[in-house]
Parts: sequence; structure tokens; C-alpha cells
Amino acid sequence: MKTISIIVPCYNEEAALPLYYEAMKPVVKELEQLGARSEFVFVDDGSADGTLTVIKALAARDASCKYISFSRNFGKEAAMYAGLQNAGGDYVAVMDADLQDPPEMLPEMFKIIENSKAGGEMGSKGEEIDCVGTRRTNRKGEPPVRSLFARLFYKLINKISKTEIVDGARDYRLMTRRMTDAILQMSEYNRFSKGIFSWVGFKTHWLEYVNRERAAGETKWSFFKLLLYSFDGIVAFSTAPLSIASAVGFLSCLGSGLYMLYVFIKALAFGDPVAGWPSLVCIILFLGGVQLLGIGVLGQYLAKTYLEVKQRPIYIAKEKNF
Ligand code: UDP
Ligand code: MG
Repeated sequence: MKTISIIVPCYNEEAALPLYYEAMKPVVKELEQLGARSEFVFVDDGSADGTLTVIKALAARDASCKYISFSRNFGKEAAMYAGLQNAGGDYVAVMDADLQDPPEMLPEMFKIIENSKAGGEMGSKGEEIDCVGTRRTNRKGEPPVRSLFARLFYKLINKISKTEIVDGARDYRLMTRRMTDAILQMSEYNRFSKGIFSWVGFKTHWLEYVNRERAAGETKWSFFKLLLYSFDGIVAFSTAPLSIASAVGFLSCLGSGLYMLYVFIKALAFGDPVAGWPSLVCIILFLGGVQLLGIGVLGQYLAKTYLEVKQRPIYIAKEKNF
């Protein structure tokens, strides 16, 4: 019998967790019929509410519930990493606690991977599937401004990064052991999972579903947090902003050289007195701005390098039950 580890990052999910657990019961049964035993790895990401109490109660009743609790809030990326490290299964799933990731898709995901391994329909092109990911087909229930920026972000990052970041892809996925091990080898501090999942390669099959609203509780992501997260993603998976800064510097050098030539010739040949402090102010401000922007971009990469070099642990666990 195969084992599936289901990683559930939880931050202030006391309201959603009992609903999640109930909704997973039939799924666990169905997976059992398909030949897979499930274990849960709940990661309490330093919740300030009764999340840990709820998890402990679940673990007391159900031996297949493992949990690990952080000393403070480290973020979902860190929670997922902790889950991956502590998942012992042949297959590993990542799933939100708020039921926005449809539980009933999990058996289907399992079937697709198994089927490809058996040389079935999906894997018949000679390739085994190592991951079944999910994408939302719409962004219903989301503020329009957020959707707009999200779309822009995916367009931009896919232009400037070699790693493909799939628009609408969720973290909800099922992976094989070998893919999980590959991800664990990427022990970087600044984690951007959407990129990491894709960077490690392996064949991913995408399932689509219509966006769902949260079952209970509220989202942990403000618009500003998402914006910062998108910058993290760009810095983590592309160095294009650095090249752009160089390119802009080169172009403005070229432009100013040509302009200088023009001014010289005009003054020598036509004796035209050069008037123009407004244009001077514009040029100084423009170049000053470009320089500051360039330094800022450089600073972003330097800051990330600084954090990476310090080699701080990605999370600190306070307690666990295994
Ligand atoms: N989460 C976490 N740590 C955080 C923020 C969120 O572990 O700092 C978990 C949260 O409990 C949930 C999942 O990550 O299970 C997704 O969070 P949320 O539903 O708030 O994000 P959204 O679905 O709105 O993108
Ligand atoms: Mg959610």
C-alpha cells in the first residue's frame, strides 16, 4: 500500500480546520480504496488563535495526524517547506486548510500519476507524470484590481524568467517522492514555490477548477503583501531587472553623447547660444531617477543575497508529535 502525506499549512485556521477535516474523511476513504493510505502533516505557522488546540484534538483522535508547530509566524512558504521535510509518504500533497482547494480532486490526482506509471493513457507518450497541479480558471470573488495586477505579474515574470510560472496555478498539488526530494534540495531562504515547483522540472499535469470561496476565516494576504511577494518572485527567478538597469544606463549614455555632438555643432556652426535650464533640470532629474532606480534594483538583489548568506533556518519548530 502506498502512503500519501497531505501537508496542510495553517495560520489562524481554527474555524476552517474542523470543516476541512470533515471534508477530507470521504476523500481518505476513497484513496484507501484506490490503494493509498493517507497521513496529515498539519503545520501550525505560529497561529495566534486556537489552531494548535484544534490540531492537537484531531491528532489525539486520529493517529494519522502529524503536526508541527512553529515558534512564530514564518509564512506559508516556510510552512510548506517544513511539511515537505517531515512528509514521509511515497506521494506528497500540499493543500490549504480553508477548503479553497477542492478535496475531491485528490483521488483524481492520485489516479493520474498511478496511471501514467502503469504506462496508461496519460503516460503513453513515454513520460511519467510526477506532479498533478491545479489551476483556477477564473478569479471570481477577488477584487478586480488584484486580478489585474496578478495577470500583469504573470505576463511580466514569464517574459523575464526562464522558469515558467503558470498563471492561476495554485500550490495545491500531488507530487511523487522523487520530485519532493528535488524540491527539498532547494533549501534557499527566499522561497517562491510557484517558481521552485517548476524549476525542478518533471512532468506536471494540470487540472482546472472554478475558484471557490473560503469555507471559514479570512485570507491572510493583503494587496500590499501580495505585491511584495510578487517582487520576491521576480528577484528569486530572474536577473532581468539588473540587465534592464544596465541597458537603460547604456542607452542614456548613447543618447547624451549624440545630443552633446548636436549641441557642439549647432554652437560652432551657427553660433547659437545654448539656452536651456529647463531642459537641464529635466535631464538631471531623469538621470538622477534612473540612477536611484538602478541602485534600488541592485539593493533588492543584495538584500536577498544578504539573507541567503546568513543561512538562517527557514523555520523554528516549537513542538511536534512525531
Ligand atoms: N498560511 C500560512 N502562513 C501564513 C499565511 C497563510 O500557513 O503566514 C496558510 C493558511 O492557513 C492557508 C494557506 O496558507 O491554509 C493559504 O492562505 P490564504 O487562504 O489566506 O491565502 P489565499 O487562499 O487567500 O491566497
Ligand atoms: Mg485561501
